[in-house]
Amino acid sequence: MRPGLDQSIPARFLAAARADPDRRAVVADDGELTYRELRRLAAGIASAIEGTGGHVGVMLGHGVRIPAAIMGVLLSGNAYVPLDPGYPPDRLRYMASHAQLTSVLVEPDTAALATELTGVPALDVTRVAPRDSDDPGPSTADSLAYVLYTSGSTGRPKGVLQNHRNVQFQVRHHVTEHAITCADKVSVLSSFSFDMAVTDLFSALLTGATAVLVDIRTHGLAHLSRRIAETGVSVYHSTPTVYRYLMASLGTGERLTSLRVILLGGEELTARDVRLFQAHAGPDCVFVNGYGATEVSFACQNHVTMTDEVPDSVLPIGFPLDGIEIVLADNPGEIVVRSEHVSIGYWDNDEANAAKFLTIDGVRAYRTGDVGKRLPDGRIVFAGRTDRQVKIRGYRVELGEVEAALADQQGVGQVAAVARPKDDGTSELIAYVTPASLDGALVRKRAGEVLPHFMVPAAVVVLDALPLTPTGKVDVRALPAPTRAVTTEDPRNDTEKLVADIWCAVLGVESVGLAENFFDAGGHSLLMATVAQRIEEKTGASIPLHQMFQYPTVAALAAHLDRRPADGGGLNAVADRMARRRKARRR
Ligand code: ADP
Repeated sequence: MRPGLDQSIPARFLAAARADPDRRAVVADDGELTYRELRRLAAGIASAIEGTGGHVGVMLGHGVRIPAAIMGVLLSGNAYVPLDPGYPPDRLRYMASHAQLTSVLVEPDTAALATELTGVPALDVTRVAPRDSDDPGPSTADSLAYVLYTSGSTGRPKGVLQNHRNVQFQVRHHVTEHAITCADKVSVLSSFSFDMAVTDLFSALLTGATAVLVDIRTHGLAHLSRRIAETGVSVYHSTPTVYRYLMASLGTGERLTSLRVILLGGEELTARDVRLFQAHAGPDCVFVNGYGATEVSFACQNHVTMTDEVPDSVLPIGFPLDGIEIVLADNPGEIVVRSEHVSIGYWDNDEANAAKFLTIDGVRAYRTGDVGKRLPDGRIVFAGRTDRQVKIRGYRVELGEVEAALADQQGVGQVAAVARPKDDGTSELIAYVTPASLDGALVRKRAGEVLPHFMVPAAVVVLDALPLTPTGKVDVRALPAPTRAVTTEDPRNDTEKLVADIWCAVLGVESVGLAENFFDAGGHSLLMATVAQRIEEKTGASIPLHQMFQYPTVAALAAHLDRRPADGGGLNAVADRMARRRKARRR
């Protein structure tokens, strides 16, 4: 046992709260909490939760209340299970029942949904009276802290378990690797369903720093860069995908000067990402490639400074962190992470536990399924996967789970899901189903009713039969590229023309149908955010991202733009204002 890991998370949090109760603990889009306020709210929530040692669902939006809810669950001696209200009901129902929730924390927006889906008592955190308690509750370092559901290859999500001690091990790395102090503002951009948010939230709340939550899914990318500047985020953490969209949303020469660390993890980083860092960060900022998985948190990191040479192509994932050993079965070979602090296992899943966890010379280890290569200097390079797990826009997806969801649909015969590389270097999820008499769009729509957004194929192609290799496996290379069956019509007015042009540029296509759905045309929420930003740049009309989703066709969005009250003069006035704004931003 190492010193410093033997307390519970709440005990460490309360110590940070005592040190400076007036410091801001959480800053979110919908409000702020000081350490005193957070402590009191979490204590109130804890005392309203019945029982200990159970699993409590947390179904709240990415706002100021969710850190209090999570800390409240931990203070109560229970483990939290994030339930993203944006997930399809069937998936949430499965997670709630598989995790055997004892109760669920909600806010007014999610209360009805949570009660319907989970069937356990729902506690509205907005109705809880804050409580002045300094009691860390019954949790110990070995208590379970959370269950995080991640994509499962056999068709069902897997619940990754972690205890308080191991969360603190991750936090300690984060704090020492990036020298985080109470003066820092740490970004929390990922949904709490992913382990990225665990590291970010607790590295702030256990050190007295400020956790800055930004809801990108609701507010988009321009909002993100604005919030980084306004709140003075110093430690930034996201997937490379979100980072690339953020960088693309900045003007030439625009720098995010408050950042001293840009930490990215979850996907490969290339020379291009390093160049974006050089173009948009301040001179002292450090760029970090973090490698890990939900089951181990960070295992390796590679730190790059502004003056370091740009790598030829792929940036190595670097050296293992203190207390972590990377065992390569071969060179190159599968990456096995050996550490006392890898996940304590999957909830109720003997098969996956036996397949993925092992003990090497008395120390627990996790088989990542990643292939790594050790360079002569000891650094590791990520070199792909041994199985069918892929990353789609930074999200972990088991192709087998997507296939299982499609195969469940009435009338669907054979199924193959693949991650297809696109011209811009990203990958998209494409599914192939038989027979050819199926309606691919309908199959895709039904998939969206059971799978989270990142697991829904960008297109479902119907075929008479799947092409096979001589050995009888699906011949992935012979699967045809998806084609879009679109009736393109000419825009009927200037606004439609403007919107259609932006769509084409953002989607990388030559034409779009006026009534074609953005998401059927290969769009996703980050691209929708880019559309919103370009519309704002061109017209001055700022449309919140959640409203954009209500107008997913060129015709609907153009009509919405035309209906808006002319805010401040005609098109020329708008153009002037935009030019002034751009200039001010550059300055
Ligand atoms: P994370 O939040 O670290 O992405 P996930 O559990 O969602 O965790 O995904 C883990 C997988 O993501 C790894 O097994 C690996 O395939 C991929 N991955 C994580 N970090 C990197 C990285 N820096 N470079 C390349 N691939 C990565």
